[in-house]
Amino acid sequence: MEQTQPLIPMPKIGKPAKVAGGLRVTQVRTIVQVAFIVLLIALPFTGLFHIDLSTGRFVIMGYQVWWSDFFLILPFWIFVISAMTAVYAMLGMVYCGWACIQNTFSEWTNALAKFSFGSAALGPGFGEVSLSGVRPKKVGLLRKLGQWTIFVGGVTLFSLTVSVIITAYVIPPRTLFHDLLTGANHTAYWLVLGIGGVMFLNLLLVRHYWCKWVCPYPLWQHMFKTDDTLKVAFDHSRRAECTGCNLCVKSCFIDIDPRDTKNYSRCINCGECVVVCEDYMGKHGKPSLLTFHKNGVYVAEDGTTKARRLSPGTVRFVVATLFSLVPLSLFIYGIVTYSPYRVTFSQVPGRFDQFEVGLYNKTPRPERFVLGEEGLPPSNVTFGQTEVSVPPGEHRKVVMTVGPSGVLAPGLHNFQVEVKSFTPKPGQFRQNATVYIPSPSQG
Ligand code: SF4
Ligand code: SF4
Repeated sequence: MEQTQPLIPMPKIGKPAKVAGGLRVTQVRTIVQVAFIVLLIALPFTGLFHIDLSTGRFVIMGYQVWWSDFFLILPFWIFVISAMTAVYAMLGMVYCGWACIQNTFSEWTNALAKFSFGSAALGPGFGEVSLSGVRPKKVGLLRKLGQWTIFVGGVTLFSLTVSVIITAYVIPPRTLFHDLLTGANHTAYWLVLGIGGVMFLNLLLVRHYWCKWVCPYPLWQHMFKTDDTLKVAFDHSRRAECTGCNLCVKSCFIDIDPRDTKNYSRCINCGECVVVCEDYMGKHGKPSLLTFHKNGVYVAEDGTTKARRLSPGTVRFVVATLFSLVPLSLFIYGIVTYSPYRVTFSQVPGRFDQFEVGLYNKTPRPERFVLGEEGLPPSNVTFGQTEVSVPPGEHRKVVMTVGPSGVLAPGLHNFQVEVKSFTPKPGQFRQNATVYIPSPSQG
């Protein structure tokens, strides 16, 4: 018979908890953190995604996505939100610990401080201010020049890296580097220096202080936690074996005592405390006192770890995942029906006999448009151009004139404007319109 008591499944002696391919949780986390930064770099640098600041439009693989592309933008974000809900329900605040670049670069700056000054606690910054009100540790302002050079140089490099990554989202990388190297456009300088300066001060002084005291994002992740969301747990049945070495507390850069993690604590499931306790207790021939745990998980009689079906976290995960299929379907519909061009038609203000056709090319290639009209005598209609090539991402306007007067009888005349596009998706735009020809006495 299976045990009903939710015993905490602890790792076996000499076999620290491994996640994938024999790697420890902290090693997997480092890989995920680096992969996330590579993804952030890859998006603008491969041309997959950037934002056109002049128009405020998203550009995906060179194709403009307008706010009017409703079925692309809204379902995509609803899908992302519902997918994140499923992840946070199961894994807690993993975004902070495993992906957020504020945390990643703060950790790397702490590691740099440790390398430069011998201890992260001796580096400058508010990051060591404790949530429990403990006074900040000594800040090594008078350390040797060499130590400061390494530290400040490293922080400058981190800051510029983040700054260039962020700027590349609003200035295409090729243009960005050209502007930075030639000084052709000072906007690139100001953006890189501005973002880099803020990041420099952040990494120099703030780091995890932001995560602990200011960042509102954890609130959103907390909302989706349940009683059985993954968290770090302490094996209270073996409390007497804890030597109070405090290694787990010291390893926690969020300033939590891992032996007393609450469901709604700010723990980001980084696993640092689990690994240090595994190592420490392993040296004494004992299993770790700390491990990742889900309340829905228990140890069966045969010693295997099992998960209860339909725990609150599982239900939320399943519901959120199923719900995310709806916006995903709408998003796919948006991709299929995406129009790579846009045509507008309007009367020229103050002119009864002139109309303006707007041709917008949302693609990364030149687009050819052919204009025509039906319903009026051909000799009475003139287009500024009947065939127009519009460069990538740009638009052109063509004026259509009805005249000369005297051909059409006074009164209202219906007609239809037709615009054809050919690549990458052949299309046809038709617009019904009316022209009013005044009588000679009115004219
Ligand atoms: S309690 Fe452990 S897992 Fe949670 S943030 Fe602190 S070190 Fe990371
Ligand atoms: S690392 Fe393990 S043994 Fe040391 S204080 Fe933490 S729980 Fe106790």
